[in-house]
Amino acid sequence: MNLETPIREGLHIAKFWRVDGDRIHCYLCHRNCRIPESSIGFCGVRKNIGGVLYALNYGMVIARNVDPIEKKPLTHFVPGSMVYSIATVGCNFACQYCQNWDISQRRKITGYYMTPQQVIDDALLYRADGISYTYNEPTIFAEYALDIMRLAHEKGLFNTWVTNGFMTPEAIEEIGVYLDAATVDFKGHGNKLFYRKYIYVVDSNPIFDSLLALKDKGVFIEITDLVVPVDEGSNYDDVRKLARWVVENLGPETPMHFLRFHPDYKMLNVPSTPVKVLEKCVDIARDEGIQYAYIGNVWGHPYEDTYCPHCGYKVIDRLGFYIKKFDVKKDGRCPKCGHKLNIVLSPPKLKGGD
Ligand code: SF4
Repeated sequence: MNLETPIREGLHIAKFWRVDGDRIHCYLCHRNCRIPESSIGFCGVRKNIGGVLYALNYGMVIARNVDPIEKKPLTHFVPGSMVYSIATVGCNFACQYCQNWDISQRRKITGYYMTPQQVIDDALLYRADGISYTYNEPTIFAEYALDIMRLAHEKGLFNTWVTNGFMTPEAIEEIGVYLDAATVDFKGHGNKLFYRKYIYVVDSNPIFDSLLALKDKGVFIEITDLVVPVDEGSNYDDVRKLARWVVENLGPETPMHFLRFHPDYKMLNVPSTPVKVLEKCVDIARDEGIQYAYIGNVWGHPYEDTYCPHCGYKVIDRLGFYIKKFDVKKDGRCPKCGHKLNIVLSPPKLKGGD
């Protein structure tokens, strides 16, 4: 595509808001900001101008890449596919260790203007299989994402979000129509004190509600859990609690990834998560019944691979984001014992288009 002449066509009126006295109540995410005239919400991208809420980041792409879907991570949804990945600036979380802080915590709207159609054209040019809304929290560019998602399905591209799960039911009602798969990211096993201290989020409970709502919408879900080696962020009782909730509410076949923390942003003094802590998390999750538990961000570890939960045969051998061996039958079964694996081999019938 031609990126020489970015032209931004005015400001885009946001969705998911109502007037509340002399403020605007934004109900796109659970921060529920009440935004005074000429002010912006916590995420830094939604502004009250004259009693109307505008999505300042609409179309302003700050990052775009074609990534293996395993990088999200989504390891059970169309493995080996490539996703055209985009982000804007801003975020509704303020993670003190964010690896993308330069994008997410930026409070000046910057980027390259791309219409939704240009995003689709670019994705097709690069022969991507789907679009991933990622790097920062896609909820805060929901209007832009929704416009792209509709076009993506028309062109046979699937949609995946990498999300903190803090969006409201009203947002999920619309997003879920076009969303095919989501990686929902927990941090610190969902521990509320961790969320308060390191993310400035009062309560992690809405994330569990979002997961149930996404499941109701037929979205394929994988869970990640960033394990941060601080008191509130790496507690084995919390791992057990989270894994149990996933088993009981989403099903034991839901993939769970325990991700290694690396020092970044404002938490440079906290060391990387010891690998043995991650191994213990995987062991606890398996003990609770999770059938596909992984370690992420430790390349070459055997817990990166996928094993048949019935006979233990290694069906996918990975190195980081790359697949070295893929031995799943065309009907999604284990070649050794015939067990039906929870792996979506090719894009499902795309939703919302008819
Ligand atoms: S999307 Fe942004 S403005 Fe809206 S409630 Fe969330 S943080 Fe506030």
